[in-house]
Amino acid sequence: MRLKSYVYGQWIEGEKNFRTIKNAATGESIYEISSDGVDFRKVLEYARDKGTNSLSRLTFHQRAKILKETAKYLSSFKADLYPLSYSTGATKFDSWLDIDGGIQTFFSYSGKGKREFPDEIFYVDGDYEPLSKSGSFIGQHIFVPLTGTAVHINAFNFPCWGMMEKLAPTFLGGMSAVVKPASSTAFLTEAVVKLIINSDLLPEGALQLICGSTGDLFEYLTGQDVVTFTGSAETGRKLKAHHKIIENAVRFNMEADSLNCSVLGPDAVKGTPEFQYFIREVVNEMTVKAGQKCTAIRRTLVPASSVEDVSTALKDSLEKVKIGFPSEEGIRMGPLVDEDQVTDVFQKVELLHSVTESVYGGSLEGTANKGAYFAPVLLYTPDPFASDLPHSVEAFGPVNTLMPYTSEEELIKIARKGGGSLVASIFTSDADFARNVTLGIAPYHGRIMIIDAASAKESTGHGSPLPNLTHGGPGRAGGGEEMGGKRGVFKYMQRTALQGSPYTLSHICSEWVQGADKLKPGKHPFLKYFEELEIGETLITHGRTVTEADIVNFAGISGDYFYAHMNEPAAKRSIFEKRVAHGYFVLSAAAGLFVHPAEGPVLANYGLDNLRFTKPVYPGDTITAKLTCRRKTAKEPKENEPAQGVVSWHVEVQNQDTELVAIYDILTLVRSRGNN
Ligand code: NAP
Repeated sequence: MRLKSYVYGQWIEGEKNFRTIKNAATGESIYEISSDGVDFRKVLEYARDKGTNSLSRLTFHQRAKILKETAKYLSSFKADLYPLSYSTGATKFDSWLDIDGGIQTFFSYSGKGKREFPDEIFYVDGDYEPLSKSGSFIGQHIFVPLTGTAVHINAFNFPCWGMMEKLAPTFLGGMSAVVKPASSTAFLTEAVVKLIINSDLLPEGALQLICGSTGDLFEYLTGQDVVTFTGSAETGRKLKAHHKIIENAVRFNMEADSLNCSVLGPDAVKGTPEFQYFIREVVNEMTVKAGQKCTAIRRTLVPASSVEDVSTALKDSLEKVKIGFPSEEGIRMGPLVDEDQVTDVFQKVELLHSVTESVYGGSLEGTANKGAYFAPVLLYTPDPFASDLPHSVEAFGPVNTLMPYTSEEELIKIARKGGGSLVASIFTSDADFARNVTLGIAPYHGRIMIIDAASAKESTGHGSPLPNLTHGGPGRAGGGEEMGGKRGVFKYMQRTALQGSPYTLSHICSEWVQGADKLKPGKHPFLKYFEELEIGETLITHGRTVTEADIVNFAGISGDYFYAHMNEPAAKRSIFEKRVAHGYFVLSAAAGLFVHPAEGPVLANYGLDNLRFTKPVYPGDTITAKLTCRRKTAKEPKENEPAQGVVSWHVEVQNQDTELVAIYDILTLVRSRGNN
């Protein structure tokens, strides 16, 4: 059977130069792959003109909805994908990580899109920056979608998750994608893409698939495109140095080799829960996906005094690992992906063996025509500084080197010898040790997981990148960053600094900024429906003079008898020098000033953000409130709920000398006229 590429709206088969793909578990030839005949210029043009053009016109919330619907659709076809995954060598658990993990990334980014992004096509980044004395000239950063496309080149080890973890932030950012999976496992990626295309949920051109090589695609890249690469450092470096990447300053994100480490703390001796969790994690990371995980533990760093206990415990656990046909019950570890990988890992183990001692394994379990099986290998180096090989040679399989350390400083030096890694884990209940080591190795790691008995049970594991945390690492690991919630989305958008008047920038950003108030005499804003409210519309209230009776009454109601409010001599000695009103009274009194009591479209008070009390309020002071409509976010209609939106109001409370005493944002739920 021949795999097909999905390009410019068609499924097409390569014309010649086919490569044969084998079942990792049986060694039998199952597919042929080639992209010969694909017009790569047309692929990129189609992606930009159709896919990105459509996606970038949708709001974040619309894009988030597409992600959710796609994830739901794929969930109903999971059972069809698992058998294909077994042919890549993945066990049931490995397949769950790849397939369910990939789908979960879409769900996760969908939730983030709804909660953390506005219902807009662009994103306002942070607060405005004052740029002039009188405030008539200000600055504001925004993120807008790029107009190009994202080319995602993936490694063989996660044919589903590897694609989806990149697609989720790409689509949410408003960009189309061209996916090029690694050939050896492209059959699973092809199946997932087929489902996504059949679902008809994505705009035309949003997703294309290249099965086979990328041909001359790089020749047509522009500065509006993004390339992400996951794979070996060697290929990554070659692609990053492509003349078009350099000439057009094409964004290039690289995720490459990584010699991740796991550390056992000196306190975590044999018999402690941390020791047990450490052993379990190291064995897991050696055997899940047969060690073909970019985040797998390659270097195991333990106190010199624990080397014997650790190597005995690891050997005992590794002996119990059942290796075999991936789909069979009870099988913990499947084969490597193909015979090339077996040869590659074998050669790397030989190289590592030239400078280390063998603790466990080290033999080939199968041959290529019976499947690409490879037994776990545990090596030991008594002197981690004697050779760079254990810190630089990544055998992409179930291979790990045990190393002793004798002090915190030495441990940090050893961990840093990895030259930059995706992840490290530290197993300890000694918080000081955890802090010193974390701060010592953080510059060399993209993620650090610290485990004690309290966190171990619920831990997501050393090897699992999560959608809400960044995945990537410095130096050897490629210097890239993926996911990390919002951060990942911005990789597919352009940050632009705007400068202008508050009024103009407020209009452009659909968000009020200081100085863009619009006084709106007439109807009180609390009597207006969601659609009627205008960004920037401002209400200035009448004043209220605060009395001692207010303070006493508020203390009685709230039970807050803090000395600065209630004890005259103590208040005198305090930083306030006399009795002051409760801050929360000021908030309540301000609400009393701006809230309209009549039954109207305001449904509820939804919360309060960014509160600061900037000056004390004393008995005799007269306060006024200024309420400005800052931002409006329509809510997705729900059954049995009135159509509504969230309105964010900026509130400033002043005293009689126009000094600011409190500043904050309140959120209200406001009914839409729609359902009235
Ligand atoms: P690879 O040989 O470098 O291939 C990676 C991807 O690049 C594949 O899709 C491959 O396609 C493609 N490719 C190769 N040459 C290319 C070229 N000249 N132009 C365009 N694309 C090209 O790596 P691999 O063997 O698949 O993966 C294993 C490596 O990936 C390991 O070293 C591992 O550390 C690394 N990895 C890193 C991460 C991470 O997040 N840091 C994750 C997973 C894997 P073909 O398959 O068609 O050649």
